[in-house]
Order: sequence, then C-alpha cells, then structure tokens
Amino acid sequence: MKKIKKLNLERKAIWFFVQGDLFWTVNVNNDLPEGALAGIDLAFDLNSTSYHLGYYQHRACILIDLQHQAIELPFGRWTSLRELMADAEPEFFNMAGRAWQVANFVRTHQFCGQCGEKKIAINWEVASQCRACGHRAYPRVSPAVMMAVVKDGKVLLAQNKRNHGGIYSVLAGFVEVGETLEQTVAREVKEEVGLEVCNIRYFGSQPWPFPHNMMIAYIADYQSGEINIDPNELLAANWYDANNLPELPGQHSLARQLVNHILDC
Ligand SMILES: [Zn+2]
Repeated sequence: MKKIKKLNLERKAIWFFVQGDLFWTVNVNNDLPEGALAGIDLAFDLNSTSYHLGYYQHRACILIDLQHQAIELPFGRWTSLRELMADAEPEFFNMAGRAWQVANFVRTHQFCGQCGEKKIAINWEVASQCRACGHRAYPRVSPAVMMAVVKDGKVLLAQNKRNHGGIYSVLAGFVEVGETLEQTVAREVKEEVGLEVCNIRYFGSQPWPFPHNMMIAYIADYQSGEINIDPNELLAANWYDANNLPELPGQHSLARQLVNHILDC
C-alpha cells in the first residue's frame, strides 16, 4: 500500500472516493466507480490524499480521500460503509474497510503525539513521521475476541445492551494490553456471564473497520459455573441449540459463521 504522489486520471482502477465517512457508489448494487476518471466530469482537488490500496481480482484499487470537500457527483450517490458491507463480497468489503481506515489514519495523525509538531506522510508505507523528533505512527488495529462457549451441543448466546432490536450473539470483548488472546477469552466469559471455560481454540478472523478493529473468533468448552450476567454489559444470556435460536447477526458476520459452525446449521 503506497501513497500516490500524483494522481493519473487516465489510469484504470476501482476508485474508492471517501467523503467524511461515505463512499461514492454508482448504481443500485452499490458498485464503486471503475475505469479511467479522465472522461468523467468530476471536479475535485487533485492533491487529495491518495493511496494505492492493492488489487481486487487483478484490478487496481485507489483511495481518494476528499475529507470534507463538497463535490458534485455526475451520477450515483454517497453510501455508508455498513451499506456496502450488506451488498459487497467479503474480499471487496475488506478493501473498502482498508480505504476507510487509511483515510481515517491520515486525518487523525496530522500532528505528533510526542512533541506536537506537524507530521509528514511516508511514501513507501502507510505511516506518518514527525519532522522534529522522528516519532512515527502507523494505522491502529484494535484486536477484539469473540467466543462461542459450548455445553452439551448448545451454544451460549447473549443479548448485549448495545445491540438494538433483540439480536443475540456470541460474547465478545477487547484485548487488554499484556494479555494473550486466550486469556482475553477466559476473562471476558468470566466477567460477562460468570462461567469458567477450557479448550480454547481458534476459529477465524475478520477485519472490522468500525473504526479499526480486528475480530478474532474462538470456540471454548464450558467447564464450570452458573450463568450470572453482568447487567452493565448484557440484558440476557442462555444456552441455545439449532431448534430454538433467537434472532442472530447477519450471514456475513463472523459471529454468525461461528454459530452456524457449532450448531451445523
Ligand atoms: Zn514529534
């Protein structure tokens, strides 16, 4: 991923225009503009922060961060990252998440956190460096674990206070400094529902760009204890099998894949 010094509008690419926290999409399928920009009547600052993000199905993907420039779109509309997630292939959504996280990083690292001086972007990687003291910063990735606790073929699902609409999901929580991921799993289960778990094993991971998380999923076996929820975090928690499932997160989510895997549904 490299910073682009000079935009080439003749270049064919998929263009990730970000304005505020919205993406320019061009049709009802929420596709992004693709091809060369040269033939399109679109007025924007050519010095906008731009990065070559990588490739999606052998097509170059380029971020243009408009920040808060108000430009008139020749067609299409502005669409949120969550709307994109609902329509896009996971690989493409991850690219959009990458675009958003790079834009967010550049916007929030204009000045040095150590001495307060203006920072400059480095061209060979996504980083900002202080001209005065040399302090360098990289995009932040905040790891969080989610875990399916399993007991007698049933999975523990909980309704979080932050989840509106009655959706139930597996438990989750942020990794604290100095913790292994497995320690986070055991601590979060103990804190949120009062249970001890064992046989903690890796299931999968998913970048979650809201705003810069990495979800890492685990399966753990119930060991001991009775469910005793933390009322500051949860509204309810119980054991479920495939025949009595409550409303679950969407199919694109890692939490749903985890539940489907455990219950074979
Ligand atoms: Zn500095």
